[in-house]
Amino acid sequence: MLLLHFEKDNLFAKKIAHIAGQQEFLYEQADCFEQVYKKISKRTFDLLVIDQNINRILNNRVLKELTSTGFVYPPIIVITSKDNLYIKKQCFNMGILAYFQKNAFDTARFTKYLQTIKNEHENIDLIKNFKIAVIDDDCFSLETIQTFFLTYGIKNVNYYQKPSEFLVHALEYNFFLIDLVMPECNGDDLIAYIRGKNENAIIILITAYNNDNIIPHCLSIGANDFILKPLDFKLFMIRIKSCINQYYLKKELIFKNEKFFNMATRDALTGLYNRIYFIETCKNKIEETRRTALPLSFLLLDIDHFKSINDEYGHLKGDYVLKTLAQIMIDTLRKSDIICRWGGEEFIILLINTDAKAAEKAAEKLRTAISFHHFEDINKITSSFGLTEYQKNDTDESIFKRLDNSLYLAKLTGRNKVISDEVLNIAYGKKPMAIEWGPFFKSGNSFIDKDHHLLISTSNEIIYSCFSTGRPKNFLNLFNLLSDELAEHFDREEKILKEFRYPLYTDHKNIHHDLLQKTITMVNNLNSQEISFIDAAKYLIQEVIVGHIIKSDFDFYYILNKNLTKK
Ligand code: GH3
Ligand code: MG
Ligand code: MG
Repeated sequence: MLLLHFEKDNLFAKKIAHIAGQQEFLYEQADCFEQVYKKISKRTFDLLVIDQNINRILNNRVLKELTSTGFVYPPIIVITSKDNLYIKKQCFNMGILAYFQKNAFDTARFTKYLQTIKNEHENIDLIKNFKIAVIDDDCFSLETIQTFFLTYGIKNVNYYQKPSEFLVHALEYNFFLIDLVMPECNGDDLIAYIRGKNENAIIILITAYNNDNIIPHCLSIGANDFILKPLDFKLFMIRIKSCINQYYLKKELIFKNEKFFNMATRDALTGLYNRIYFIETCKNKIEETRRTALPLSFLLLDIDHFKSINDEYGHLKGDYVLKTLAQIMIDTLRKSDIICRWGGEEFIILLINTDAKAAEKAAEKLRTAISFHHFEDINKITSSFGLTEYQKNDTDESIFKRLDNSLYLAKLTGRNKVISDEVLNIAYGKKPMAIEWGPFFKSGNSFIDKDHHLLISTSNEIIYSCFSTGRPKNFLNLFNLLSDELAEHFDREEKILKEFRYPLYTDHKNIHHDLLQKTITMVNNLNSQEISFIDAAKYLIQEVIVGHIIKSDFDFYYILNKNLTKK
């Protein structure tokens, strides 16, 4: 910011220079007309302060010349030694910014003027950030606007007399001054066109017609404001600045809204969606799936042994793993998939338009990407997955039950794997799987738990022998043993359920009966070699042992646990 002071009194010049310096203005002094002209012709000043004897003020050549064009730039502040109302009025008629008395100089008021000019200057800098197009068929208007802009050194403007020429480049701009009436095309058509392409652009209508109907129409189709011809420099700049202020306010509002939306819907550590967002989106996506019948799958991911990472490497490293994992998910999955941090080291993903088969592929890809990723200073990170596809008549609860159970099974059968729909495969890759007995299976009744534990141990033995080379001779015996254990267990479980008055006791007993029949048939088929050992083992474990515990037994656990807490 540059201030030029026309002043012969060096002491007073020092005073003004001091105030200017405080407001970050660079100060220059001129002590004759010639010097003023020389300086003004070489550089653009932001403020001119003229100190003149009151009698000579109206004849001041600088003032006369600078105000002769109809608008005054740079702004002028006059300082005189005497107060005279007539001269004061004359000065304001000429367009000066302010009038000060030297012998009662008001420093605070002068400082305020400097601050206003500084703010104005900042506004002008904002205008310089835009790409401006002026479209007006009237050559005189274009020249006037160009003079206005150049006065402030605003050169980022192109001027078009023909709308057709402008239209070729229309989308390059974000600030438009458009004449209303033109031969080739009307200003309102241009406004509608630009607004259709750019909802944030600033569009100002210029018109000689102060028409009650057309101006509201132009404002309603997208103009931000209008300026009436003949153009007045001060008003012109004021309207432009006001539009620019509104533009930035709107931008700030959008930014803040986005920020608040993100704060409300994103997890602070990973930047992924949070649980609140997920629940809301999940509801909408399920509705959409019901309407369109397009597939929708769910994936629940939990990092394996994450606690030990925190314990071994510290919490910060744990956070780093969570953040990196979020990025791996973003990079590996489709853009349309909705990834959310469910809590702690658990993530949930909505796989849009994806059936179970495709979801399994995506989950495997993600599992591999995580297990092969090199996490700084850490050996290896793996994760376990539960997966399910939305089924007709599913509720949130039924979906999450399948997901949760599947994830548990993945954890209890060696981790670093994907389990779909609670179905245990007896091998993962080529490795036989072993089921770990844990709290997940516990019913609250020690007899049932003891039986279940035994059944799972025998299942593990069967799985192991399926894969051992040189198949042990007692393979069939193991199946027979399992079928005996099952019969005994079902019997015991039914007695307990009857005793506890389980409302679905009869249904459960029927399921047992059915499963036992199927098991006996299967052992017979195995004897007659109609079914392979592996298929028989799969069926027994998936349907009869683990499948039944998860899908049917879990339903009565609440009764046993209720009684436990009562006791
Ligand atoms: P599993 O394989 O059975 O899932 O074992 P785990 O250790 O991953 O599971 P567990 O539930 O025992 O431990 C989860 C740990 O995750 C405990 C908690 O300290 C840690 N954790 C949860 N949220 C954050 C977090 O925001 N940052 C860090 N660094 N750790 C977290
Ligand atoms: Mg974990
Ligand atoms: Mg049962």
